[in-house]
Amino acid sequence: MSKIAPQPGIMEISLYQGGKSHVEGVANVIKLSSNENPFGCSPAAQEAVKRSVHELHRYPSTDHAALRNAIAEVHGLKPERIICGVGSDEVLAFLCQAYAGPGDEVIHTEHGFALYRIGALAAGATPVEVKERERVTDVDAILEACNDNTRLVFIANPNNPTGTMIGLAEIERLAEGLPDQALLVLDGAYAEYVDGYDGGARLVEARDNVFMTRTFSKLYGLGGLRVGWGYGPQEIIDVLNRVRGPFNLSGTALAAAEASMRDQAFVEKCREDNTRLRAWLAEALAEHGVPSDASTANFVLARFADADEAGACDTYLQSQGLLVRRVTGYKLPNALRITVGDEASCRRVAHCIGQFKAGAR
Ligand SMILES: *Cc1c(COP(=O)(O)O)cnc(C)c1O
Repeated sequence: MSKIAPQPGIMEISLYQGGKSHVEGVANVIKLSSNENPFGCSPAAQEAVKRSVHELHRYPSTDHAALRNAIAEVHGLKPERIICGVGSDEVLAFLCQAYAGPGDEVIHTEHGFALYRIGALAAGATPVEVKERERVTDVDAILEACNDNTRLVFIANPNNPTGTMIGLAEIERLAEGLPDQALLVLDGAYAEYVDGYDGGARLVEARDNVFMTRTFSKLYGLGGLRVGWGYGPQEIIDVLNRVRGPFNLSGTALAAAEASMRDQAFVEKCREDNTRLRAWLAEALAEHGVPSDASTANFVLARFADADEAGACDTYLQSQGLLVRRVTGYKLPNALRITVGDEASCRRVAHCIGQFKAGAR
């Protein structure tokens, strides 16, 4: 046996499973498995990427000032309290690295995003899973699970893969009830899909124990470039900047993200289309006997009779060239998560699920 061993906790990490992107023997699949924007990204972002090729020999900005200013202007935030990361995944990892270690507990919810557990284990901390109430974050259960070792509490709001969210009053009650040494992290990867919701930005400004993360990967359609950001108390931003690599974001990624942030007309159009098509899809599935919780994000969590039926439906959809996401790893074996695509994709997936329910296999 080699004496070269990883840090405790690392071998407990199961590899993150991304959404499928191809099926053996099927051409032209429709990918509804990774919550990507069916309309791609803003044309302004594409132009920014093209312009950036002339600067590829230059090191990028280390302070991300131009991008932070664009985010701050659009959202009415303080630019010095923003940190940018290689996807919001990296910001979540900074938080774990800086605030949790051996002996510390990191809370996430029953059907919470997989990266919270991974980040906690990678930092040597102990992930603690808290039950939800019928696929909705349960503030009382989280408060009960807190103790002197709790350092971080991760909530995705809206949550992936359930699509449900809790209101700002509930979030505030959670923040208020946390032990003094614990930080509440609001993961707002889908916040843009909720009209009028600020992702918790005002709460971050009002309190010293709330942090918000956001991403360019979902509504902004830039998942392939990897840009996310966080907004938090100044002290915490200063801590995270010490663990952040000085050149974590490429010049191309920074330029594309800045251009997309400034194109809010694109954001509004995508949000409206998503809201309309999501309602249509949920209703069409319900008519076929497939219920889902009211979703506030860009996907619906379709529920089947049991795991066997969900698995059989997934297999049938794949045979029809449709890729959706099984969420057994999220303790939802009887459900399939379906991204809201463009109109044609929504019609196709609803049609095929109808055929499946009518006996097609
Ligand atoms: C997709 C997603 C993210 C975004 O990850 P990036 O690293 O920014 O691409 C974060 N949290 C949740 C809950 C997500 O579903």
